[in-house]
Amino acid sequence: MHILITGGAGFIGSHLAERLVSGGHSVTALDDLSTGRLENLAAISDSPDFTFVEGTILDRDLVQTHVDAADVVFHLAAAVGVKLIMEEPSRSILTNVGGTENVLHAALKDKKPTFVASTSEVYGKATKFPFSEDDDLTIGATKNLRWSYACAKTLDEFLALAYAREAALPVVVLRFFNTTGPRQTGRYGMVLPNFVQNALAGKPLMVHGSGEQSRCFGHVYDVVEALMRLMATPEAFGQVYNIGTDQEVTIRSLAEQVIAATGSASEIQLIPYSDVYPEGFEDMNRRLPDVSKLEKAVGFRPMRTLAQIID
Ligand code: NAD
Repeated sequence: MHILITGGAGFIGSHLAERLVSGGHSVTALDDLSTGRLENLAAISDSPDFTFVEGTILDRDLVQTHVDAADVVFHLAAAVGVKLIMEEPSRSILTNVGGTENVLHAALKDKKPTFVASTSEVYGKATKFPFSEDDDLTIGATKNLRWSYACAKTLDEFLALAYAREAALPVVVLRFFNTTGPRQTGRYGMVLPNFVQNALAGKPLMVHGSGEQSRCFGHVYDVVEALMRLMATPEAFGQVYNIGTDQEVTIRSLAEQVIAATGSASEIQLIPYSDVYPEGFEDMNRRLPDVSKLEKAVGFRPMRTLAQIID
């Protein structure tokens, strides 16, 4: 099959592109290189089965052309990263909602199967754990200053499901939890690559708040495996899936494990939120996915351990 990946030069997109090409598919990656990098695609850039197109998902005609040429679309392009979103909330909304509408609209013409990236942040300040796909989304209740990203992704989900219900577009919503692994950079505030870079450089590891907030880190290879299986599961259309692992770790423990794994002499420094974020910032204490729906659908649950991820 021929697969279009928007955001294909990004972290998750480039791993997916590699996996698809090695599995005998052909891939077009459409990316504006705002956070993505051509180096991410080095392993497949010379392959006859791979094409890179530099451009934006905000260009409706360009999107239509490449969706028309594809059998399946993975829509992963988005304005991402804590820093970028807090500095430019409007870009987050414009890119993430306008771009998604362009992709869905283009896919509607020939009812192309379309996978739309969302995020665990749509759960907002939920207090019931683990987070299930059937939960009500409480994004409106959060004071998290990344609200524009979470709001835009929530709208993306609603748009995708509206296209599915009203126009029978075969759509799957991918609610990604923290995903990490090779090629993820710390440039946009991603915690694990930041810790690893600082540990290797002998610099302090900055832990925001008490460090007792927890996250679940999934390996990008596991995530890609889940996507490959969903692509082969027609029953997934019209559904939302949590994509991630349910192995929880506190951010302080993550920092300790990175220091141990790298043999670094770095120290951990606790930084109050008020030192780094504008007044009113609240982080989410826990983000724990229920991954049973994904496991039931595709017979697989992301399993790589944190130690394997840090390695
Ligand atoms: P990434 O920044 O590496 O990838 C996003 C890609 O989109 C980049 O290559 C960027 O250049 C591209 N892009 C941005 N705006 C664009 C535009 N207007 N037109 C074309 N391309 C554009 O981030 P990622 O971690 O690979 O994230 C991929 C998707 O998964 C995103 O939608 C993100 O919101 C979602 N997600 C990721 C995580 C995670 O932990 N990595 C967690 C939740 C959700």
